[in-house]
Amino acid sequence: MTDLTKLPTDKLYIDGAWRDSTAGTLHSVVNPATEAEICQVVQGTVEDVDAAVIAARKAFREWRHSRAAKRQALMHAIADGMEARKQDLIEAISQALGCPAHITEWLHVDGPIYAMRYYADRAQHMEETEQAGHSVVLREPVGVCGFITPWNYPLHQFVGKVAPALAAGCTMIQKPSEMTPLQDYVMAEIIDAVGLPAGVFNLVPGAGPIVGAALSSHPDIDMVSFTGSTRAGVEVAKAAAPTVKRVTQELGGKSPLIITPDADLEQAVRWGCEDVFINSGQTCTALTRMLVPAERYEEAVAIARSVAEGVAMGTGKEAFMGPLASARQREIVRSYIDKGVAEGARLVTGGSEVPEEFPQGFYVKPTVFADVSNDMSIAREEIFGPVTCLIPYRDLDEAIAIANDTEYGLSSGVWAKDAESAMPVVRRIEAGLCFVNGGEFNYDAPFGGYKRSGNGREFGQAGLDEFIELKSVQLPA
Ligand code: NAD
Repeated sequence: MTDLTKLPTDKLYIDGAWRDSTAGTLHSVVNPATEAEICQVVQGTVEDVDAAVIAARKAFREWRHSRAAKRQALMHAIADGMEARKQDLIEAISQALGCPAHITEWLHVDGPIYAMRYYADRAQHMEETEQAGHSVVLREPVGVCGFITPWNYPLHQFVGKVAPALAAGCTMIQKPSEMTPLQDYVMAEIIDAVGLPAGVFNLVPGAGPIVGAALSSHPDIDMVSFTGSTRAGVEVAKAAAPTVKRVTQELGGKSPLIITPDADLEQAVRWGCEDVFINSGQTCTALTRMLVPAERYEEAVAIARSVAEGVAMGTGKEAFMGPLASARQREIVRSYIDKGVAEGARLVTGGSEVPEEFPQGFYVKPTVFADVSNDMSIAREEIFGPVTCLIPYRDLDEAIAIANDTEYGLSSGVWAKDAESAMPVVRRIEAGLCFVNGGEFNYDAPFGGYKRSGNGREFGQAGLDEFIELKSVQLPA
């Protein structure tokens, strides 16, 4: 088993070296399944951010002009390092987040390794030019970037920012969530070992309102890419505005799954429930509003109940769902469950009391609500826990109206007879993603939200475009 206490978590990684923070405050990282401390992690300061920005700015002078083939090779070396240290990455995420290790491997680690290689092979795109009449359009890296990531898919979010930035020729300062910084230390060790030029990648863990705020407002940072809550995303954008930084935001969601009258109900409801319960419901794209034809509603409720009651909790090989990531998150989820009951929704299974078999750990039972109307808090606000809401609809026009009646627009799903018949419904949903008949997440395709779910895209070519400045060279005609 990986010994996570051997990671250099009392240090920051700045300018190609492990350094002390100017303050040296430590933050405890807790295993949510055991409630025991895993290790302590240094919390950076505003001065540490300044030092990292100076290093990144200096490194940018040469890195921006490096050959794409060099960046491609270094990034493949990083991906090789991720494969070699896969077990460390799995443990780092599984222990701090609580996701069972066997699920962590395919849900949290395999995709990011793929994405690192995907962007390695896209570095070449930076050297391609475009002819536009008598002009030639050049692609250049945006500059020094500040990255702020959350705790729920910590490696996925790290790679979604760091990999395209490296491919583009940007330099960066990464700040992980206070709760799940350990995989970032494994990544910094891998990056250090492959010999990336000093200052290209810097790691400064710390508190959102200190390190995150310093990155967002720093006058010498050109772009800030943020993933997290809409509340903090708004703060970041406000702090970034005076220096006219490019800002990308990947924020929250309250996503609908429309099950059409001709769908295979058993398959659709099972998939929809598992989509919510995986990662203990802490998934920004979770399809937490399940819209079901009224005439098949009670049938769907019975299926959802049996799926929820069949979920194996724990962190072992048989487990599908671990604890919530923190005591605080558990309290938020429990209070939403109580609110749902108070607002008149029918609690089909689950509930806010501590599961008997788990007196220790931040567990919440998989919970199904029926008779939910779309104006209840549990249908409007992101719960970020294993709680699904079943909402009946009379016809597809009403289903689409309910689906779009949200301030968010990150994800959605349609389960129909087949993919072709789903498409007219897909086209009417206001969201950046739509999962059709159980389609899987795809790192080659853009990911991001409409409305208050964010601005900009990660992954796919669009994820690289975020890190590019276009220069139009107007040649004599
Ligand atoms: P959060 O907003 O509390 O924290 C996210 C990150 O922002 C952390 O690193 C935190 O330290 C930092 N932060 C907090 N306040 C800040 C501030 N004022 N200035 C700068 N940085 C600050 O969110 P969380 O609880 O860690 O994550 C859960 C949220 O993230 C959910 O709303 C979820 O939907 C969202 N999320 C979105 C996506 C997506 O791609 N759209 C992916 C994962 C999570």
